[in-house]
Amino acid sequence: MEFILIVDDDINLCKVLSEELDEVGYSTNFATNAEDALKFISQRSIDLLLLDLKMPEKDGFFVLSELNKQSYPFKTIVLTAYADVKSAIEAARMGASDFISKPYDFDELLITIRKVLQKDS
Ligand SMILES: [Mg+2]
Repeated sequence: MEFILIVDDDINLCKVLSEELDEVGYSTNFATNAEDALKFISQRSIDLLLLDLKMPEKDGFFVLSELNKQSYPFKTIVLTAYADVKSAIEAARMGASDFISKPYDFDELLITIRKVLQKDS
């Protein structure tokens, strides 16, 4: 079963998305800040990171830059505010495979997740 870590400072989004993804057969967990996310990633292997870019204090770009200090064996999809193309491009430059704009449409999110997980590294 593929494991997805959701990182967003909005705990309600984390809970809802986690349940939605569990229902379609993924194994999930979530973190509501950058530090917890990086700690989690250092302790267990994940297949996909769903990463909110906008978080108070340390944001998604901080997580991406920390990850880029070493190679990591999973893909990242970033969550951005609607139409924040600039951030999405910057995240892609930092290694994100794709992006989803918030508020997300679950069916579209699922298509993106499946597409990203199928891609060869
Ligand atoms: Mg946020």
